[in-house]
Amino acid sequence: MNEMFLLKLGEVVLKGLNRFSFENKLKSNVARRMRPYGSFDVYLKQSTIYVEPNNDSCDIDGAWEACHTVFGIASVCRCRPCDKAIDAIFEVVRDYLGDDLACAGSFKVESKRADKGFPLNSIQISQEVGGRVHEAFPHVRVDVHNPDYTVYVEIRDHAAYVHGPAEPGAGGLPTGTGGRAAVLLSGGIDSPVAAHMIAKRGVEIECIHFFSYPYTSEQAKEKVLELARLVSRYSGRMTVDVVGFTKIQEAIRDNCPEEYFTIIMRRFMMRIAERIARDHGCKCLVTGENLGQVASQTMEAMAATGAAIQMPVFHPLIGMDKEEIVSRARKIGTMETSILPYEDCCTVFTPRHPKTKPVLAEVERIEGVLDIESLLAGALENTEKVTVRWHGAC
Ligand code: ATP
Ligand code: MG
Repeated sequence: MNEMFLLKLGEVVLKGLNRFSFENKLKSNVARRMRPYGSFDVYLKQSTIYVEPNNDSCDIDGAWEACHTVFGIASVCRCRPCDKAIDAIFEVVRDYLGDDLACAGSFKVESKRADKGFPLNSIQISQEVGGRVHEAFPHVRVDVHNPDYTVYVEIRDHAAYVHGPAEPGAGGLPTGTGGRAAVLLSGGIDSPVAAHMIAKRGVEIECIHFFSYPYTSEQAKEKVLELARLVSRYSGRMTVDVVGFTKIQEAIRDNCPEEYFTIIMRRFMMRIAERIARDHGCKCLVTGENLGQVASQTMEAMAATGAAIQMPVFHPLIGMDKEEIVSRARKIGTMETSILPYEDCCTVFTPRHPKTKPVLAEVERIEGVLDIESLLAGALENTEKVTVRWHGAC
């Protein structure tokens, strides 16, 4: 029988009456993710999704990598099914896991018997298989407490499954079970991580990027689209709304005191994002803000920014240290792109002494000199929609 994957469900198993809808969503998400890699059967039983290639032309390695990026899956194992008989199980352990066993100093066998009709219990299965493995690999010690390598045998309804240690899955909840959010995506380290974190909670995401040509370059925009593409590996296909922001920034520069540039600019970002988000059916905005990181991320500044709109704004990184954010960025694969040296519109006309504790009434009075509605309408008109997906070009 061909090699296949067992994907163990994560938090979904804690759901009550609505568990089936979460499971069905997850199963269809896995099936969709497997499509670029060939024809696979995807079915769900006993809190496990089985992914089975239908023919030899499937790209097993590509599919295996993709399994690690599906939200809702706690762990993934690559395994080989066989007949539910000790002889068959041992042969698969020897042939399929032999290379790993040969390099290990010690091993143990751990068995699970979901099919209670199987004549041996799990301890007996482990002893039987373990004894034969030890005979076949006499230099590898048995160590049931702290082995170098563990062989897993699972006796399930249709077959027995043999595998080595499972690998962590993407965790979280199945995409599409948590509503839809619009992420304000810059070219920095933080916002792609924030996008990944909100998506991990089962939320479908769209991104919005503000772009200030000619103050920011075409390459800066391409970098952001690439970041969105990297996030879409986990979140699935998304739209990025690229908003021309130059006129608004120039109007703020020409009409407002310098120390208020950033806060007023951010309030414009929020208003535009709220309108685009509503068009996409999104129920909240998400930013990469992090308390105390920069002048615009004090409590007072964030309150004044959020006050420009009605929609809730979530900040998944709010309490994280930079180091933690960077390590997540590395883990999800966005870090290298984030540190490419292209400027962001937030660094255009940066005040020398930004207001760290703005008072809302004062901010409203200052921005009141601007024709806010017509600036918003102009920016919305000057918005390009780009579809981004992990497979295929932007
Ligand atoms: P990042 O690393 O994500 O750029 P940051 O620490 O540099 O964040 P800021 O530049 O103040 O912080 O931006 C805070 C948040 O505002 C970002 O995380 C992002 O959500 C949003 N933001 C900033 N610039 C843009 C932009 N050009 N387009 C869309 N959103 C933006
Ligand atoms: Mg930034």
